[in-house]
Amino acid sequence: MRYFTLTAFVILTTLSSASEAATIIHAGRMIDGRNDQPRREVSIVIDNGRITRVAAGYIDAGPDDKLIRLIEHTVMPGLMDMHTHLQSQHSKDSYTERFFMDQADYALRSTVYARVTLLAGFTTVRDLGDNGVNSIALRKAIENGWVPGPRIFTSGKSLATTGGHADPTNALRGDYKRDAGPLEGVINGPDDARKAVRQRYKDGADLIKLTATGGVLSLAASGQNPQFTDEELKAIVETAHDYNMIVAVHAHGAEGMKRAVLAGVDSIEHGTYMTDEIMGLMKARGTYWVPTNMAGEWVAMKSKEPGYFPEIVRPKAAAIGPQIRDTFQKAHAAGVKIAFGTDTGVSPHGQNAREFELMVAGGMPPMKAIQSATLVSAQLLKIDDRLGTLEEKKIADIVAVKGDPLTDISLLKHVAFVMKDGVVFKGP
Ligand SMILES: [Zn+2]
Repeated sequence: MRYFTLTAFVILTTLSSASEAATIIHAGRMIDGRNDQPRREVSIVIDNGRITRVAAGYIDAGPDDKLIRLIEHTVMPGLMDMHTHLQSQHSKDSYTERFFMDQADYALRSTVYARVTLLAGFTTVRDLGDNGVNSIALRKAIENGWVPGPRIFTSGKSLATTGGHADPTNALRGDYKRDAGPLEGVINGPDDARKAVRQRYKDGADLIKLTATGGVLSLAASGQNPQFTDEELKAIVETAHDYNMIVAVHAHGAEGMKRAVLAGVDSIEHGTYMTDEIMGLMKARGTYWVPTNMAGEWVAMKSKEPGYFPEIVRPKAAAIGPQIRDTFQKAHAAGVKIAFGTDTGVSPHGQNAREFELMVAGGMPPMKAIQSATLVSAQLLKIDDRLGTLEEKKIADIVAVKGDPLTDISLLKHVAFVMKDGVVFKGP
């Protein structure tokens, strides 16, 4: 009995001291991620990293509370980018830097990219492909509070077939061109496929990324051909889902994309030559599309700069880049589920919000574009029980811009306030 009383006393004092030290945000305008209409003059109460109350009007702060006034701002859930590469940022030197950089160099440089991503308002990202360890170490460093950065869900090393888009030995001279296997994410046949997925699980990856077709930036001839068989795709999806990992699939060409959708993958990345038939299949199966308009824009622009890309890459960049924009208009109009993603690391880190402008230019209403980067992305990651909206009990990942992004979407490129897990990283 005495023990019980003491425990109750401790719980009561903990509760009362926690509520005294709450953070209260006065939001002039709030987009909650779920409703299609914004709300005016709202208070958001945050305690212990969680939203405990969303109330109409500006409620008074207690003497110990921290008040954050964002009355000229639009307050939104933390933004989510479903396709980034925090390990790198493309430059003319990208193809050779791996011969001169150690893992520690990659890791330290990626902390700089992680910081600018968070300060741009992106509190959660998927990292879709690194050298196998970097994004997992970066995730740990951020979780431990060693460096500031977004919440990371990573695939670790992408899976490819021999000579495919993510084969790390493509185009090297003979004595470097080893026969890479499942340990490095290169598979041939269903047994290799299962082993490569299990290796990613062992590495500590959160999800699986595979490259179902050729890609623009790899040193290989085709950007579109199918690179996995039906059996290989089926083995990857089944094994990944056994381990509660979702599967994200890089695809430009239609045949490889269709095989992946039919195999039951969770998202198609890029989706450049998506046909009406594939749009129908994705809608029927609930497959998400992550368009990465920004990557298309960036590679098309760089393909015009003489000598920037190696000659095996340049024609692919010139052809595939502009095509993503046309596909976006069609797939959005057709009603394919669209999660926000940029492929940042192709374009420079911290500029992720440019994608919003391209989505709106492609016919998507600003509110839908914001929802794609909040609730829809949280649903793709299966974390919408705790993130993606501004609602009671949700984790306090909150950003704000001055003015109204529903009338000027470019305002999202100038995020003025960033809170992650209830901690303020950027002030108004
Ligand atoms: Zn990518």
